[in-house]
Amino acid sequence: MKTIIFFIALIYPVLSFAAASDISVTKRSADAYILTPAYATNIGLFNTAKGVVLLDPMPGENQLETLNALVNSIFGKQVSYILNTHAHSDHSGGNAYFIAAGSEFIQSAAALAEIDMVTVKSHSADDAIFLHTPSNTIFVGDIYTTNWHPTFYAGGVAGFVAAVDAILSLGDDHSVIVPGHGAPSDKQQLKLFRQNTLQWVAQVKVLSEQGLTVSEIKDHAEIQRILRKFNPENNADYIPQPAIERFIERTLTVIEKGI
Ligand SMILES: [Zn+2]
Repeated sequence: MKTIIFFIALIYPVLSFAAASDISVTKRSADAYILTPAYATNIGLFNTAKGVVLLDPMPGENQLETLNALVNSIFGKQVSYILNTHAHSDHSGGNAYFIAAGSEFIQSAAALAEIDMVTVKSHSADDAIFLHTPSNTIFVGDIYTTNWHPTFYAGGVAGFVAAVDAILSLGDDHSVIVPGHGAPSDKQQLKLFRQNTLQWVAQVKVLSEQGLTVSEIKDHAEIQRILRKFNPENNADYIPQPAIERFIERTLTVIEKGI
């Protein structure tokens, strides 16, 4: 026990120091920012007529105070409202911290004149897409990621295609698309992601029908080629091998369900 306490005491100042500088800030307009903690979720920050709105506040448990201080330093105000693209903890895990500090969680953006919201079923059963109209920025949660493979498990292929169509129907050709994870993108890249995802599902289906095992599908040259398209930044430690096998298994489940 003594060792553990000593260890925590030893590393905590290092973690706090790292946390302070680990949330990168992208200004879209005077009233809209994208906050990106290292290896975590893209967070939206908006100054609206009704108050400051924070979208998907989960920078990592030990960084919530840093996030709160950052918000205050940008707008000089506390967060009034919390929105989530979906309920998974890497997007909603910071809700409780801000609610305890006086913010209100809202299910809908209907009361906020600057933000349009559309609901779909793709990554989760309840996915929400938010367009901050004044800055032309669309936050799409994990319907779209630019540093990970697609995860369309709740809505299947049809739900995924409908979700992408819903995103494309918002804003215009200059809209910035903010994925749940990874670098901000645009509609052209999102269309490519949709095309690559449909190729992936078709290829997994073909190889499975040929009788290949999950492990054999993973090692297939065509599958490896498509996987590289989901890694545009060419990260060396992109997706670990077991995660690729799970992705294939979950794709097969979607194919079997015919969704
Ligand atoms: Zn996520």
